[in-house]
This record gives sequence, C-alpha cells and structure tokens, in this order.
Amino acid sequence: MTLAAGLSRWACHPTRSRGRRIAEPKAPTRSEFQRDRDRIIHSTAFRRLVYKTQVFMNHEGDLFRTRLTHSLEVAQLGRSIGRSLKLDEDLIEAIALAHDLGHTPFGHAGQDVLDECMKAHGGFEHNLQSLRVVDLLEQRYPAFDGLNLCFETREGILKHCAKRNAQIIEAAEPGGVAHRFLHAQQPSLEAQLCNLADEVAYNAHDIDDGVRSGLLELEQLEAVPLVQRYLHEALAAHPGLKGKRLLFETIRLMLSAQVYDIIDATRAELEAAAPANVDEVRLSKPLVRFSPEMRAASTELKRFLFANLYRHPQVHATRERAEEVMRDLFHLYSNDASLMPPGQGDVFRTTADYIAGMTDRFALKEHQRLTGKQLF
Ligand code: MG
Repeated sequence: MTLAAGLSRWACHPTRSRGRRIAEPKAPTRSEFQRDRDRIIHSTAFRRLVYKTQVFMNHEGDLFRTRLTHSLEVAQLGRSIGRSLKLDEDLIEAIALAHDLGHTPFGHAGQDVLDECMKAHGGFEHNLQSLRVVDLLEQRYPAFDGLNLCFETREGILKHCAKRNAQIIEAAEPGGVAHRFLHAQQPSLEAQLCNLADEVAYNAHDIDDGVRSGLLELEQLEAVPLVQRYLHEALAAHPGLKGKRLLFETIRLMLSAQVYDIIDATRAELEAAAPANVDEVRLSKPLVRFSPEMRAASTELKRFLFANLYRHPQVHATRERAEEVMRDLFHLYSNDASLMPPGQGDVFRTTADYIAGMTDRFALKEHQRLTGKQLF
C-alpha cells in the first residue's frame, strides 16, 4: 500500500483508513478524508451553525463569532499547524468543521439546560450529539442514515464522552470510537490537534468579541500575561498603535506564538515517543501539546475570560432568558410529540434532537409561537 506523499508516518493516511460503517466504492478523485469534509460542508447541520451562538447571540451584532465562523477558525489553525507536522489536512478540516455540529442553540446555556431536562432520559452531551448528527440525524443519502463518515473523522468528532455513554457505544460498536474512553487511549494526532486548535481559537476570538461588545476593555486585558506580552510587542514594533489595530495586532502575534509553540512542543514529543504509525499514537500519551509555559499562560487567559466575559452580568442575563426558552420548549415538545416532526428514539430523545438542531432564531420563533412570550 502506498502512503500519501508529504505525510509523516504518524499521520492518518487516507489509504489506511479503518473505513466507513457501511462500505462504499472509492471516489475517483478525492481521498476518503476529503470526501468526509465535503459531506460535512453539504450537510444541513453545518449550515445551521451560522445561526448558533458561540458566546454572543446572533441578534446582538453581525460581527460576533458564530459557531460557523468559530469552526472555520479552528479549521484554519488546525490545518496551519497540521501542515507543519505533516498531518492530514483534510482530516483536520473535516473534524474541525464538524466538531460543534451537535451544539444546541444559545451556546453552553442551551447545552446545560438540555442535559438537565434529559437527566432521567440518558442525558445530553454536545460532543456525543455531534456524532449523533453525522451518524444518524442527517438524512440525505439513499442507502444510509447520517453521513457514513470514516472512523478517523468520527473518532475526532467524539472529543469527550462520559463513561456510561462510552459503554453504550462500545457495546454497539466494539473497538470503535468510544473504545479509547474506556481504555485511557488517545485519538489520532489530527484529532488531538483539533482539540487544542479549538482552545486557541476561542481564547483569541473571545477577546476580540469581548472588546467589540464593550464588555471587556483592552486595559483590563493587560492584566493577563499572555495578552500583555504581545500587546507590548505590538507597541514596540508600532509605537503609537491604538484602538482596534492594536487589538488585532496583539491577537495576531498571540495566535502566531501559540501556533509555533504547539509545532515545536509537539515535534519534540513526537521525536521522543517516535510512534511508528497512528496505532502507536493511540497507545501513547497525548502528543499534541503546548510547552508547559504556554499551557500555563493559555489556562490563565481562559480563567480570565471565564471570570470577566462568560460570567459577565450582561452575558448572564441573556443566559437566563435562553435557559427559559430551552426549558419551555423541552416541556412543550416532550408533552406533545405532535408539535414536532417524527424523530429517532423515544419522545425525550426526539425532543432533545429536535431542540439541539435548532438555530437560535428558530428556537426563539418557535418559543414565541407556542408560548406567546417574547423574551428577546
Ligand atoms: Mg469549538
């Protein structure tokens, strides 16, 4: 079997994929992972991401990140790093574009309410829901439910999974995508990278959106060492730079530094561990990483954003109204299945699938139609 040119031996090679759940003939011009990426882009769930909240709701402003632009930024960062590490860029792109497909409307507020409403009915996890979307809920192909993606793409999409859910998946698919959660193993490097690129992306764009919204001040961000360092670098190179350009240049320098840090730290790990192939990657410790210094700096930035942006009173007030919408919708649909299209599973799972698939504005429209309340 020939290996794709330009890929390292520890990459996921599309010619060595563990394959799809339902076998399909090969595509004449595209690799298996290119094909997965293309299927994701053409899916309905992907288009919905444009109207799903990342941190700020869609109606709060046209320039804030949505789940869609967030996913594109994760893909960009992932591919950029992945190319340097000679990983498969198509697989990285497929995982990155699909990683948030299972997110509910209204960001984490939506996911938390749905999990709470589903407590007695199997719970709700957005990572698992992303897998459910690509395995079951997308219905567009004549021969199968879902998108019938490759194992490697599905493995990357299932980023986290509670043990109980992992056991259920493992029973249905022995040695499959949930196996690693029960045996403390790792996913491919492409999947590990998407996970880290996700963190790099939201840390950076949430600073930008936080300042744009007026909830964060650039001066306040100077208290965060990682930001301070690149703010000073930007000013040293461009004395007198201020306002948005200073913010953008700071974020740009910070992103570049994180990208180079991941490339260097991961290369060192890979050289030390010297995995012969992706199977050895899966049995190794996590190999895609920040240096210890950058890890600490990134965690501190995350903590800052948590305390000052995600918990900001204004964000919190929006969150409470979004929670009310989610709770009302859940009770309405789960008490009267005739209000929603037929689904996959019991009335509670069908309700969770239906609500999770909604965009923010569809959820608000439905809520207003069914309750007469106008919360936003
Ligand atoms: Mg994400």
